[in-house]
Amino acid sequence: MNTIDATVNHETPEQAAFRSEVRRFLDANSEPKRQSSPWRLTFHTSGDDARLDFEKGRAWQRTRFDAGMTAFTYPKEYGGQDGPAWQESIYNEEARAYNGSSGFIASSIAMLGPALMAYGTEEQKRELLPRLHSGDDAWCQLFSEPGSGSDLASLGCRAVRDGDEFVVTGQKVWNSAAQWCDHGFLLVRTSPDRPKHQGITFLLIDMHSPGVEVRPLVQATGAAHFNEVFLEEVRVPVANVLGQIDGGWAVARTVLANEAALIGGSGNKTYPNLLRLAEIHGRTGDALVRQKLADFFTREKVLDLMADRIMTAVRRREKPPVDPSILKLFMTANRARSGDLATAIAGVSATTGEDEVQLWVGAELVGRYSVSIGGGTTEVQKNNLAERALGLPREPGFDRDLPWSRIPRS
Ligand SMILES: Cc1cc2nc3c(=O)[nH]c(=O)nc-3n(C[C@H](O)[C@H](O)[C@H](O)COP(=O)(O)OP(=O)(O)OC[C@H]3O[C@@H](n4cnc5c(N)ncnc54)[C@H](O)[C@@H]3O)c2cc1C
Repeated sequence: MNTIDATVNHETPEQAAFRSEVRRFLDANSEPKRQSSPWRLTFHTSGDDARLDFEKGRAWQRTRFDAGMTAFTYPKEYGGQDGPAWQESIYNEEARAYNGSSGFIASSIAMLGPALMAYGTEEQKRELLPRLHSGDDAWCQLFSEPGSGSDLASLGCRAVRDGDEFVVTGQKVWNSAAQWCDHGFLLVRTSPDRPKHQGITFLLIDMHSPGVEVRPLVQATGAAHFNEVFLEEVRVPVANVLGQIDGGWAVARTVLANEAALIGGSGNKTYPNLLRLAEIHGRTGDALVRQKLADFFTREKVLDLMADRIMTAVRRREKPPVDPSILKLFMTANRARSGDLATAIAGVSATTGEDEVQLWVGAELVGRYSVSIGGGTTEVQKNNLAERALGLPREPGFDRDLPWSRIPRS
């Protein structure tokens, strides 16, 4: 029995009616995945493809917004549906069988939406949330710096107040989709003489402001997923602070927790392809392959159940039962297992071939690395869990209480 069947069996009439409505929407606006190849790669091999997909995602989000098929748990005055959290679960279950995807825009929404709800002024929520949900505004994350990734709170991008503006100078890096986004959410250092977590401010910036330069970083695949972003005396209104001045760390934590939940709870499944691969290679009778397939199926199912529980709390804007880091950790481990199993079934030589199945196996083998780094590395997620879920002592650090300006930097 698959997840959808299990859910359907326990559904109320209201839920069943909503599921039918979602199916009607998807049938009318998207193509079922069964009509396209299951081996389609999830990364791009040229900048043009990536840009096209970004814009397709934005258009799809607009279609969802116009049909009232998004922002299910957000209040109506902020562009939402004021609905229960199960609507989003049902939508996601159904949408998995269709090609329609909001792509990067889904990440903008998942990261910034909850932060705006928790920390935005009434004006910010009314103005920005509907534009976020309609895809009119695409937001990139401007957090990491060349010397500040895992230790994000050590960041040095400087913002100096000048009347009712901040003047921002510094550099960010690894900023996904920044070359296409019109807006960015940016962490800056506003009080260098306070301890590192206490002098950070969260700013909402217009990426077309004078002084912002975005330089794409071209990868081996041929596409540029990431960028470097240079900021040279960029003027940002003080009204664009989200949360409190010097209180940006709390806002950043909200974004990062939701990013981990998004990555871990995305619901992408590779079991069906692993089974197909075993069939292609005549390995379905192999006892070891069967055991590994069963183990992998179970792990994807466990992730699904955990994701549903944690994401339901996230959508209700309640405290999740356990830190969302666990989803990203579990998902990262599954990706590694999937790559190992695909290679074990198809043989290492399959990773060097050029047909679509071989390309998929190769991508599955190496895909584990990006997912284990983006949105906070596996080690950092383990630290989060140790502290926030297991209650273990905080990781030792000599610089937590020192003024940021007195912390040695290379
Ligand atoms: C696909 C992808 C998308 C990304 N998108 C964005 C984006 O949109 N915006 C943005 O700002 N950034 C983005 N990033 C950057 C990402 O957040 C950083 O790469 C990540 O936080 C790690 O930082 P770093 O690269 O500086 O590595 P480092 O922090 O230098 O880490 C190097 C290694 O040391 C380990 N390590 C570091 N500290 C500890 C510790 N305390 N305990 C144990 N091990 C430790 C790490 O786990 C890692 O293995 C993205 C990265 C990827 C891969």
